[in-house]
Amino acid sequence: MRMRKLKWAEPFLATQSVIVRNCDEMAGQWRRLLNQEELHVEIGSGKGDYWIKMSELYPNAGWIGIEKNVNVAAIALKKVENCEHLNRRFIVDDAQAIDSWFAKDEVDVIHLNFSDPWPKKRASKHRLSHASFLKRYEQILKPEGKLIMKTDNVKLFEFSILEFQNNGWLLDEFSVDYRRDEHPEDVITEYEHRFMELNQPIYRAVWHKA
Ligand code: SAM
Repeated sequence: MRMRKLKWAEPFLATQSVIVRNCDEMAGQWRRLLNQEELHVEIGSGKGDYWIKMSELYPNAGWIGIEKNVNVAAIALKKVENCEHLNRRFIVDDAQAIDSWFAKDEVDVIHLNFSDPWPKKRASKHRLSHASFLKRYEQILKPEGKLIMKTDNVKLFEFSILEFQNNGWLLDEFSVDYRRDEHPEDVITEYEHRFMELNQPIYRAVWHKA
């Protein structure tokens, strides 16, 4: 997602209490902070619709959004500037450090929605489904926890299916046209809207760690 620098983004983010800044100190504390038993983490939340609407649709779960781009994060948080954030928080940082923000077995579900594909092979380590990320997810996910991925990008989807398989994860669900059926239980993201309008199929898979 390329976007121009927004002058207001950093000063605005500095005033937002929904952002957790001392994430290293939060490992093991997220459930207590949100007063929820079930913890969902979305990595690469973009302009925030999924994180916002899922946290409203499922008020009895905790929702943490992670977005590294400050401009995009500011647009997401502007949408909920004057709202209560009982069951949600946001992290503005690179998810590379995710295994120091969450304790072992702390997370129930990780969501990857329309992650950047990083098409060049030499940049594959940046893909959020690269083995180096899977190792971190393995640490923080509960034994029965799962990871849900949606994408429009068939190459990223193929890469991810192999990467999870080669790293010992087990595939639970698989769809090559997820939005052919209605899924009111799952919010449509900003990117997903765009691809659906272009009549492109949405790929989706769910895994759990072995
Ligand atoms: N999930 C949103 C959607 O479906 O509309 C946004 C998709 S956008 C293509 C991917 C987002 O992931 C970008 O905003 C990017 O900055 C963010 N992102 C990519 N790698 C990340 C990382 N390592 N940590 C945090 N955010 C990341």
